[in-house]
Amino acid sequence: MAIYSGYVGAKTCTQGPTTGARGAIAWFLAKYADDGGLNAGIYNCRPIRGSTRTTSLHGEGRAFDAAIRPYSAAYGTKLADLIRRHSAELGVQCVIWNRRIWSGYYDEWRTYTGVNPHVDHLHVELSWAAANRSVADTVALWEKVLGDLVDDDTEVKPVGSTKPSTSATPSTGGGSVVDWLNARKRDSSYAARARLAAQYGIKGYSGTAAQNTALLAKLKGGAPAEKPAPVKPKPAAKFVAQMAAEVRAGKHGNGHDVRRKSLGISAAVYAQVRAAVNGKAAGKSIADMATEVIQGKHGNGHAARQKSLGVTNATYAKVRAEVNRRA
Ligand SMILES: [Zn+2]
Repeated sequence: MAIYSGYVGAKTCTQGPTTGARGAIAWFLAKYADDGGLNAGIYNCRPIRGSTRTTSLHGEGRAFDAAIRPYSAAYGTKLADLIRRHSAELGVQCVIWNRRIWSGYYDEWRTYTGVNPHVDHLHVELSWAAANRSVADTVALWEKVLGDLVDDDTEVKPVGSTKPSTSATPSTGGGSVVDWLNARKRDSSYAARARLAAQYGIKGYSGTAAQNTALLAKLKGGAPAEKPAPVKPKPAAKFVAQMAAEVRAGKHGNGHDVRRKSLGISAAVYAQVRAAVNGKAAGKSIADMATEVIQGKHGNGHAARQKSLGVTNATYAKVRAEVNRRA
C-alpha cells in the first residue's frame, strides 16, 4: 500500500473514455451495483465545474464518476480511502468524495470546496499509464489490490480521520485537538474546528496553537455546559434537483431574489436551480429521457444531448447512467 505521487492535468479533449477508466468502472459495478453503485460516466469534454478554463480529466476520458446511492453511503467513504491508500498500485492521481479531495500533490485528505460537494459520486482520476491499461488488466488489477479489502468489514476508516500533519495542526502538548476529535470520529478539519471554536466562544479562530489548546480544554471540559450542536450541512449542499423540486412546489415563494435568499445559496448555484426549474425536463422522468436519448431524439455527444434535454449536469449524469445501464 502506497500513496501515488504526482499529477498530470488534462490538456485537451480526446475522443472518448480510456480503457483503464472503463475497466475501473466495470470493477466498481461488479463490486457495488448491489449496494446502489452506478456508473455516472467517464468521457465528457468540459471544463472543471466552476471554471471556464481548466479542462476536466473527463475530457481525456481518464476520470470516472462512481455514483454512490444512497448519498454519502459508508461504502463510498471506505472505497474512497482505500483507493487513496493504494493509489500508487492503481495509478490513481486524485479522488474527490464527500467534501474531501486527495491528489498526488499531497498524502492526506483535504477539504474540498468545489461547487459540487461530491456526496452523490466518487470522482476518480487515473494517471496516463493506468488509463492506457486494457479493460481486462484494469479489472484484474483493481480486484487484486482492493478485492479483499472492500469485502473486509474491519477495514472501514472514515475519510478525514487520517493522521494530522504536524505543520497543519499545531501541537497542544499531550495530544492535539485534531487527535482528540479524530479519536471520537468527529470532523477535525480546519472548517470544523473553526465552527467548534465559535460555539465555545473562541473568537477569531485562525488555528493558532494557543487557540487549539483552548479549544481542546473546552471540548474536554464539556464547556459551555451544552454539547456542541451537530454540524448542519450548509444549504448549498442541498442538491440542485431537490431545490428545484421545492421551488416548483412553491416552498420558496415567488421572485428570484426571494427564492435565492430562502434557499440560502449563491447566485451561481441559484442559476443552476433556475435552469433545473425551467428545464424542458420538468415533469419528465429519468427513464423517459433515457428512452429518448436511446431513440436518438437528442442527437449525439453528451454536450449536445444535455443541452437538448435542458437538464443540469447532475440530472444528465443520471440519464447517462440509465442509458448505460440499459446498453
Ligand atoms: Zn467526475
